[in-house]
Amino acid sequence: MIETMTKKPRVRFAPSPTGLLHVGSARAALFNWLYARHTGGTFLVRIEDTDLERSTEEATRQILESLEWLGLTPDEPVQYQAKRAHIHRAYLERLLESGHAYRCYCPKEKLDELREQARAEGRIFAYRREMFPDDEARKLEAAGAPFVIRFRAPVGGITAFDDIVYGHIEVENDTIGDFVIARADGTPLYNFTNVVDDIDMGITLICRGEDHVPNTPKQIMIYRALGVEPPQFAHLPLILGPDKQKLSKRHGATGVTEFREMGILPEALVNYLALLGWAPPEAEFDEVMPLEELIARFSLERVSKSPAVFDHEKLLWMNGVYIRRSPRDRIEALVRERLARRWPEIESPSFQPPNPLLTRDPWLRGIIELAIERSRTLADFPDQLAYFFERPESYDEKATKKFLSSPAQVAQLEHTAKILGDAWEQACTQANPAKADADALEHWCEAMEKPLREWAENENVKFGNVAQPVRLAVTGRTASPPLFHVLWFLGRDETLYRIHACAQWARARMKNK
Ligand code: GLU
Repeated sequence: MIETMTKKPRVRFAPSPTGLLHVGSARAALFNWLYARHTGGTFLVRIEDTDLERSTEEATRQILESLEWLGLTPDEPVQYQAKRAHIHRAYLERLLESGHAYRCYCPKEKLDELREQARAEGRIFAYRREMFPDDEARKLEAAGAPFVIRFRAPVGGITAFDDIVYGHIEVENDTIGDFVIARADGTPLYNFTNVVDDIDMGITLICRGEDHVPNTPKQIMIYRALGVEPPQFAHLPLILGPDKQKLSKRHGATGVTEFREMGILPEALVNYLALLGWAPPEAEFDEVMPLEELIARFSLERVSKSPAVFDHEKLLWMNGVYIRRSPRDRIEALVRERLARRWPEIESPSFQPPNPLLTRDPWLRGIIELAIERSRTLADFPDQLAYFFERPESYDEKATKKFLSSPAQVAQLEHTAKILGDAWEQACTQANPAKADADALEHWCEAMEKPLREWAENENVKFGNVAQPVRLAVTGRTASPPLFHVLWFLGRDETLYRIHACAQWARARMKNK
């Protein structure tokens, strides 16, 4: 014990490459990583790819890519379990030689019979070497019959461990029995390879999902048989969906790559996952916790053993906070990439924004800035900004009924176009937002708003009833960033064009009714 406590911490994340990196596994990776960073230890990654039927190279690639994206890169080269077969073989030999493992020839029919018997008597089935006569085993051995390798589990007594999260756990050895550690074809199985690799890699603490709690006593038995003090264990509670069922596809995205595709920032996902089952000691704390703070405050002792509930809405909220706090250049680059996926023309050198007073880059920067307050993911930006790239194809139905269902209303809309058109140049002489100066843009907006407001007052119309139809005409929507900002980035001609097109549409609609 003393020895493990004084060893420099070495932890590992050991995924089986059978699919995407699930958020549950990502959290296990993160907790190991945080523990290593907090203690000055080493964080390792081992791909457990011995199960050749279920493991794929594609899954390995995706898992490693997701870890890198999250910033959870290992401190030493990635280990691949399948390449360590010679090490597993050597340890297997050791167990066979010391008598802690044996070749079991017990045929399947006999095993089924024993299992059935235990079931009929209401006992847990646990195989023991004594259940199959030695002389029969020898005969089968001589005949070259197939065998599996079983671990000789201690008879009687208990195997116990103190889990950092779950506390004291113990099991009766007789409920475990002699378990299989290598298949008939010689391939060693999970509980065995996992222990051998952890010993060989000098792992001091194992932090993994609580679904592995039943494996732990078996693994501890193997450590002891090999004369090695077992490491510490910390099992992490399950992650549930809001309906308290195990988190799955039904609840929405579960794979790290899916969150990435949705436009979640890696630092937001890391922050969110850190709080899934862990919390600092204070009752009240700021949930938006930068990485340095997470590292400084993290401890496995503060991991809760009750299942954590994955709340997509909260993740989206947190992501929005991170988007707004990130350096603008970074968000711009990320959003621009997404805008270009939908409107590839923006990356063409001849791209001209609808406001001819602006060139591409300041224009893109300006519209992205407009959407920042309203976006929770990077994917929200193209949706929010679509009307800057495409003229509205339809107009919000309710708002149309409210604002554009009489000839007088449509005439009023057209009149606002005239006011805006006349004010435009005048406003530009007062403030020139083309220099990408935020103050200038504010002044320009004020200069544009003034005549419209005055006219509305004279006519005794509420300003909202003048502005809202304009918003509807240029965006098709009832909500958008501040109206005059939108108009600036659309430019004069496009604004007037859209207002007239909408008025025409509204008139045609009235006629057809
Ligand atoms: N390959 C196992 C898994 O993915 C590793 C468990 C462990 O961390 O020991 O569940």
